[in-house]
Amino acid sequence: MKRVGKLMVVSLFLAVILTGCKGNTEADSQGEGSQIQVVTTYSILHDIVRNIGGNLVEIQSLVPIGANPHEYDPLPLDIQKTEDADIVFYNGLNLEEGNSWFEKLIETAGKGGESAPVFKLSEGVEPLYLSSEGNEGEEDPHAWLDIRNGIKYAENARDALIKIDPEHAADYSENAEKYISKLESLHDEVIEKFSQIPKDKRFLVTSEGAFKYFGTAYDFHAGYIWEINAENQGTPDQVTQIVELIKEKNIHVLFVETSIDSRSMEMVSAETGVPIGGKLFTDSLGEEGEPGDSYIGMMEWNINMIFEQLMAKAE
Ligand SMILES: [Zn+2]
Repeated sequence: MKRVGKLMVVSLFLAVILTGCKGNTEADSQGEGSQIQVVTTYSILHDIVRNIGGNLVEIQSLVPIGANPHEYDPLPLDIQKTEDADIVFYNGLNLEEGNSWFEKLIETAGKGGESAPVFKLSEGVEPLYLSSEGNEGEEDPHAWLDIRNGIKYAENARDALIKIDPEHAADYSENAEKYISKLESLHDEVIEKFSQIPKDKRFLVTSEGAFKYFGTAYDFHAGYIWEINAENQGTPDQVTQIVELIKEKNIHVLFVETSIDSRSMEMVSAETGVPIGGKLFTDSLGEEGEPGDSYIGMMEWNINMIFEQLMAKAE
């Protein structure tokens, strides 16, 4: 027992050091003391909230990096984390609803209401809607792929943190201001960079149709095998439809996603002879220390990958 106790102390110590080192946010120099306990549903929200909360918050994210936030089976530890949270952030817009996992989690953890606020980070985003059979009229969750919506998420995180921790309002506002100005510059850079891609090459084909908001913001058509991650992924009908579209539009490159099994797209590639150009980040960040391990990093990766692949085929 003594050994176990010692080990636990060592791991706790390590955890503190690791959390302390994770930094690189604007707020790292801010106070230690009692941190606000935050839970986010998946990695992209974790990073946005981290940039606003800095060291004033301690964040636990539920869906692991590389996994699918549409459908998830929370572990007992996730329920514990949610019970202990001062504040819970989720995306909303039909994201965490694949198997109603988030709703059930909140209920099981006894959260919601005044004492344990649950905030939707996509609040105020102009929703786009799904149109494929069985999903008609439902909200498309992938709003964060338009950087202007990422800015909205950051503003919402700021306002929510100020609400539950008004004492540090100035810190949250300052962090938000710095972070949002980076996002604004990135958005402008994207517009500038993509203006070089000829109009008739602006076609993105991915497994899941996650690029509606991105396509609307940056002027791309978005094609997909299935519209949203759900039970029916890569059915023969879906494959036939995308194969026809690829031929009809004379598409020269396909993309896969880091958080989705690539086998369906490999099948489409084999059937059409069109190569897979690379991986894009949609529903998850990259592993820590790898490219795409932050919201800004994943957007930069996507922008460069799309630019290189479409320009290579444009020449
Ligand atoms: Zn998705």
